[in-house]
Parts: sequence; structure tokens; C-alpha cells
Amino acid sequence: MRKLEKIYHTLYSHYGDLDWWPADTPFEVVVGAVLTQNTAWTNVEKAIECFEGDLSAERILDLPMEELEEIIRPAGFYRQKAQYLKAVTEWFLGYDGDIDLIKSRPLADIRSELLQVRGVGNETADSILLYAFDFPTFVVDAYTMRLFGRFPLDAGKTYIEVKNFCERELPQDAEVYKHFHALIVQNGKDHCKKKMACAGCPLEGECGKLYPSEAICYHANKFKYMI
Ligand code: SF4
Repeated sequence: MRKLEKIYHTLYSHYGDLDWWPADTPFEVVVGAVLTQNTAWTNVEKAIECFEGDLSAERILDLPMEELEEIIRPAGFYRQKAQYLKAVTEWFLGYDGDIDLIKSRPLADIRSELLQVRGVGNETADSILLYAFDFPTFVVDAYTMRLFGRFPLDAGKTYIEVKNFCERELPQDAEVYKHFHALIVQNGKDHCKKKMACAGCPLEGECGKLYPSEAICYHANKFKYMI
């Protein structure tokens, strides 16, 4: 079994199915992916609640900018994010909100199309494609970079290098990618934090086995990654 698959199975056995991403519709995932930029998920939930159950693409497009800003204020950077939401909604409605039509496009094409949308970078694009539309594209975030910066694994140094590494090493399966991303985030919150809490981490044995006595130094030195 490849090392990355082993990490996946170790985390999965420890945390189980984390049922991420929480959303009622694919469009809500699109909205959440924009709102979660530079903020905690709890703030995204507060902002989504402010839509009071009426979170449709048509409504976002029709809302005056000031009203949209007010609704999403709890997510922070609300002026910027309101503009990004309008832009990604226009993209979504370019397909008439037809999920099957979006899913029928080649992954490479739709990914590069999304990356042209204002406010959509690699992580937002991959989150939308994976969690809203089930495309097998791996999401790399700060937790992923931190884990792979510390774990003895040459995953690469940039977003694209790490994404390509994960996609090479894992089965090309959207469900595996969804679970793995959620597991990495959970472990990053519980153990692989800015100040790591290795005791009790499900990966402790594998990290420590290769670097038994100098684990902390090794980890600290290796964490030079940039998204
Ligand atoms: S053992 Fe420590 S460095 Fe390794 S993944 Fe766990 S918390 Fe991170």
C-alpha cells in the first residue's frame, strides 16, 4: 500500500466518515466555498443562516450589492466576497444552474473556466468541483500543506505539486478525495495544529518511526511550504 493511502486509512479508522461538506444543495457548496476564504467555517454558517433559507442563484444575482454585503457580513471581507459571489453566480447561471450540464464538462476545461472567475483560486475551484459537482479533483488547503510539510513525505512545495502528488498516489475517486480532505482538516484541528500536539495523533507512529528522535526539529525545518 502506498504511503499516502496508508495515511488515509489510518485517519479514516480513527475519525470515521466525517460527512463533509455540510450543505443542502450544490449551489450552497459554491457559496460556502467563496465565503470560507480566510475565515472559520462557523462564520460561514452564520452568514448562510442570514439568507433565511432562501439561498438561490437567482436571488444572489438579483440582490442589490449592499444587501448582499449585509447578509454575508458575518463571513468577513464581505464587500470583496459579495463581488466574488456575484461573479461565481453568473458563472453558475451561465449553465442555467444545470448540475448535470456542469458535470458533463471535462474536468480540465471546467477547472480552467472556474479559475477565470473573479475571486476563485485553486482551493476554491477544487472545493466547488469536488464537493458541489463530484469531480475527482484533490483540494489542498493550509491544513494539507501543514501536514505534508511535517510528515516525512515529498509531496511538493506548491499547491499544484501537492495536488498532483495526491492524485497520483490515491485512486482517482471523488469520494476518497472528499473523505481525505475532511480527515486532514479534522486532524489539523485536533493535532497537527500550528503548535503541533503529536501525543495521541493517529499518525504519530508513522511520523515518529522515520524521525524518532528529531521529529520536532525535522518538522519545524521542513515547514516552508507556500500555497
Ligand atoms: S504526529 Fe505530529 S507532526 Fe505528525 S501528523 Fe501528527 S501532529 Fe502532525
